[in-house]
Amino acid sequence: MKPYVLIVEDEEPIVTLLRYNLEQADFEVASAADGEEALLLIGERKPELILLDWMLPSVSGLEVCRQIRRRSDTRDTPIILLTAKSEEGDRIRGLDSGADDYITKPFSPAEVVARVRAVMRRSRPSLSEEAIAYEDVVMDLAAHRVSRAGEPIHLGPTEFRLLRYFMEHPGRVFSREQLLDAVWGHDVYVEPRTVDVHIRRLRKALNGEAQKDLIRTVRSAGYALDAQAA
Ligand code: CA
Repeated sequence: MKPYVLIVEDEEPIVTLLRYNLEQADFEVASAADGEEALLLIGERKPELILLDWMLPSVSGLEVCRQIRRRSDTRDTPIILLTAKSEEGDRIRGLDSGADDYITKPFSPAEVVARVRAVMRRSRPSLSEEAIAYEDVVMDLAAHRVSRAGEPIHLGPTEFRLLRYFMEHPGRVFSREQLLDAVWGHDVYVEPRTVDVHIRRLRKALNGEAQKDLIRTVRSAGYALDAQAA
């Protein structure tokens, strides 16, 4: 079944553009022109993700966002706010109101599709692959379990997301900033050296006492998952 996305936007050309691109990317799309209609549609069928415009007639996108978050059936539904506002304070207000991500107008449709996919992946791992493997490491995404050479490995949530990101892009070198964006989210402020702390934990958990180190540190560049590490 195609993932169902609800667009809440009063500007018809933007709805048309988003609808076209999301449908091309194999999403099922519905749209609402204001918050009231959106809440009605959500009541009829729960979307897997909501693209919500900030500037809506009568009830603002922020208020709609809060209302969606208050309902028990949509508390966890991913929301991406669309808006022309780009001030830092607005971004923070948007995220505070419960949005998962934030896209500033004007945007490229390709960017929107990519962000929709990324937010869905983060919130519903079962939508993508069930398991990924690299060398002797296996991640069961549905069960949230990791093993190496058949032995279970216990990871904290951040290490789990970090490892997953590496496993999805084996061999690629990522800077600390890229890892922060991908794993922590681009609107969260975390110091780059936090990445080092989590890499250290991930290494320790993955390598145990004597296993081969799978994470390569690239001086002044970042990190990669790379079996040729050592
Ligand atoms: Ca609007």
